Amino acid sequence: MNTTATTKPTAVKPAFDRQGERSDADRLQAAMGSFVAEYGRTAALHLESCVHCGLCADACHFHVATGDPKYTPVHRLQPFKRAYQREASPFAPLIRALGLVKAPTVQDLEQWQELIYDSCTMCGRCTLVCPMGIDIAELVKEARHGMFKAGLVPERLALMDRAARQWGSPATPAEDLPDILAEVSAAHGVPIPCDLPRADILVTAAPAELGDHTKALAAAARILQRVGVSWTMHQGGFDASNIGFNNGDLELQEQLTRKLVDTAVQIGAKTILLPECGHAYGAARWEAAKWYGQALPVRIIHMTEFLDEQLAAGTIRVKPIGQTATFHDPCQIVRRGGLEAAARRVLKALGFDLIELRDSGVRGFCCGGGGGVVSNQRATPLRHQVFAMKREQVEATGAQRFVTSCGQCRITLEQGARHAKWDRQTESLLELVADNLVDAA
Ligand code: SF4
Ligand code: SF4
Repeated sequence: MNTTATTKPTAVKPAFDRQGERSDADRLQAAMGSFVAEYGRTAALHLESCVHCGLCADACHFHVATGDPKYTPVHRLQPFKRAYQREASPFAPLIRALGLVKAPTVQDLEQWQELIYDSCTMCGRCTLVCPMGIDIAELVKEARHGMFKAGLVPERLALMDRAARQWGSPATPAEDLPDILAEVSAAHGVPIPCDLPRADILVTAAPAELGDHTKALAAAARILQRVGVSWTMHQGGFDASNIGFNNGDLELQEQLTRKLVDTAVQIGAKTILLPECGHAYGAARWEAAKWYGQALPVRIIHMTEFLDEQLAAGTIRVKPIGQTATFHDPCQIVRRGGLEAAARRVLKALGFDLIELRDSGVRGFCCGGGGGVVSNQRATPLRHQVFAMKREQVEATGAQRFVTSCGQCRITLEQGARHAKWDRQTESLLELVADNLVDAA
């Protein structure tokens, strides 16, 4: 594992935002109440079982890229842990009576914002290496629930939250969808059905695919057209958004996910097809049943699974590109989603000679922008430091092409490349398949 910081460490000034006019006492009560409510038996066990071995430190891209001990994964949980020790641990009454653990303050929570939002992508690499099986990424996600309830989240994420509550998407009002799809359809010369009353597949998009990455949406349409299946996008549920998941706004995430499932049921779709977006996969595939309250009535699959299945079934064929390529594994799709082999089968079908990154597959380093970090401008300098690590690993392969299967990773890597004036393109696996389709035999 590479544990060398590739850029000179830069001190990142902690910053925080507040939403609404509320007293400090009110915020603290909201956060602590949520933290205590989240302590299930598993969370408590996790918080109790750290043996301080330090292995998670070398697993975290923010710690590795900066060398700053405050980015040690387990350090991020300190206020959460203090709340647990004082309020929910077996010795809580004694701890409070003797003042053994200081009560967290609102100022602690404000300082914590940087560790919970700006410098954690919930990528789960620390979880993978922890010998005690402590799921720090999951605990960070739970901690965000309390921060959201206290009105202490980065303002950029809060803004997207407000838009998503109003529009059903952080980027686009639902009523604009037909016009947007008509424009994408005309620009790329491929039909994109909208609001069909019946279809077998409900196709969803990430916000970027309705803005900067419309080529990815057109690529999906071209492939679906070639497969010959009945499909539609729908105003009732179109945005595979993860903004509630990332912010800690569980109520919003439940609403967004329900819209997708309910719309699929309404039109008789058996499958919801998720776009190339990692956290959307985590939110809709792995969390949806919990929010739905029962087994999901539809199959929810990621675009990579769909490509893999269609190539295997022979409903689409691609012409081999015949170059070397390296691949960035999106954390939520590969490490936390289990789709390591599927992406590699698609790359093989494209005729790429794959040269793996030094850290690849489930051990791959995060792009640095997941979990809402890419939308959080405060985190930009830190992200750029993480990008330098990824760039160094890509260059070390000497590969001709650089591919990934997550639109959000692609945005993060493109932003990093622009900032570093690096002239390598990060390519979409989906777009490569669409660009190289050949007629079925
Ligand atoms: S989940 Fe990822 S970003 Fe967060 S602490 Fe762990 S390794 Fe670091
Ligand atoms: S790897 Fe696990 S046990 Fe070791 S310090 Fe990190 S959280 Fe604690």
